[in-house]
Amino acid sequence: MTDTASTPLPVHADGPEGPYREIVDGLRAEFRAGRTRSMAWRRAQLEGLLAMLNDHEDDFVRALQEDLGRPVLEAFTADVGASKQEIAHTLKHMERWAKPRRAGVPLTGLPGRARVVPEPLGVALVIAPWNYPIQLLLLPMAAALAAGNCVVAKPSEVSPACSAVLARLIPRYLDDKAVVVIEGGVPETTAILEQRFDHIFYTGSTDVGRVVMRAAAEHLTPVTLELGGKSPTIVAADADLDVAAHRIVWGKTLNAGQTCVANDYLLVEASVRDVLVDKMTAVIGEYFGADPQRSDSFGRIVNERHLARLTGLLEGHGGTIVTGGTADVEDRYLAPTIVVDPDVDSPLMTQEIFGPVLPVISVESVDDAIDFVNDRPKPLALYVYSRSKETVERVLGQTSSGGACVNHGIVHLIVPDLPFGGVGPSGMGAYHGQTGFDTFSHLKSVLEKPTKPDPPLLYAPYSSWKEKLIRKVL
Ligand code: NAD
Repeated sequence: MTDTASTPLPVHADGPEGPYREIVDGLRAEFRAGRTRSMAWRRAQLEGLLAMLNDHEDDFVRALQEDLGRPVLEAFTADVGASKQEIAHTLKHMERWAKPRRAGVPLTGLPGRARVVPEPLGVALVIAPWNYPIQLLLLPMAAALAAGNCVVAKPSEVSPACSAVLARLIPRYLDDKAVVVIEGGVPETTAILEQRFDHIFYTGSTDVGRVVMRAAAEHLTPVTLELGGKSPTIVAADADLDVAAHRIVWGKTLNAGQTCVANDYLLVEASVRDVLVDKMTAVIGEYFGADPQRSDSFGRIVNERHLARLTGLLEGHGGTIVTGGTADVEDRYLAPTIVVDPDVDSPLMTQEIFGPVLPVISVESVDDAIDFVNDRPKPLALYVYSRSKETVERVLGQTSSGGACVNHGIVHLIVPDLPFGGVGPSGMGAYHGQTGFDTFSHLKSVLEKPTKPDPPLLYAPYSSWKEKLIRKVL
């Protein structure tokens, strides 16, 4: 146990920090008792999460419909199903991930045996956003629990139905002495962030990411920040434009475009721009019919504030709306919209869109597209459509992004062995698969030495023969 040096702090259940200090102190005591370290406990938590998702799939789907007007298939695939896949993968492999990892020992360290020992950090805080409110809370939680930590989980108040279901069900399926769900908005999260955690895992906007990191700095708590930004899609003239149109429209309309890794905007070689735009317009009709508002396959904007933000982006961009552009405030509906050649300095092209609006920018060449990307903050994802391996490698090699996908978008997320995270302003740290387990572990270096032999090489008095020998091996 490592915490014995710190003086226990008094509990201020009714003080300005609310009950949070007491909650975190309770979890820390639970962690120090050592129960959460056993593999059996860790397994039970992940099995609990899976059982919860299986037993209450309908509750989760209904909550997603209420908060986001999610079509059933999208509710299942992107939140319930995606969570189940990742948790099952973690259950399958976590015993191996938790084992000490052998490390080589150089001549100067011999004789000796080296290993890296993953150990749980303690009490982790997971703060989730509203757009995939189930998945983005449960996946980091699963990684933290697999690594043997206690968890405070804070769902987003912006998706209140999902927050309520999570708060109701998690204590029923998980060890409620080691896992606590706290609902609430900015005041509650601010007070929670005043507590000392051993890791903070935040998913949300870049602006709030700064708030979280500042709060974490007070306690020197490490953070994982899963943030946002504008993820570009580059379409080369030699791309399969039919496939590109289908996949791009899918990526932009999934969850009504409210996806952190949605293709925010397109950079299209000018020679194929009109053909691609026509194809994408046709695909919107194919997916959602003549009136997408009546389609069962198209979701809604999370609230009126976000809808107003999006309709605001559709004003004064200087481009041409070729399809969509209409909204219905009462229904929180915004039509799938394509805007051709907007002003690159307009808010539509400088702010993350996070809705079903797709700006299309013409570029003369793929190299111009690469320059366009490199002139802007590093994105969370980058997508490239081309039949040429050379073009694909050039784009990947000359740009930086959290992740990338070739000839598709978003789906790189479903590969558990691919670390998921941003770079620069799109985030720091990563998770999914073993990367998530490692994020919530301290990788402790251990070198074990036998007591014999005990050569005096490093000990004083220093002499010329010792120096000669050391210079030979170093
Ligand atoms: P949000 O409003 O739900 O906020 C996220 C969380 O931060 C919530 O739990 C909220 O309570 C908390 N929060 C908000 N303001 C706060 C403050 N001032 N102090 C402390 N806590 C605060 O979600 P959002 O920020 O609107 O989410 C959308 C953003 O998240 C987009 O930029 C999107 O790209 C990004 N995102 C990133 C990922 C990723 O995996 N990288 C995934 C989803 C969303």
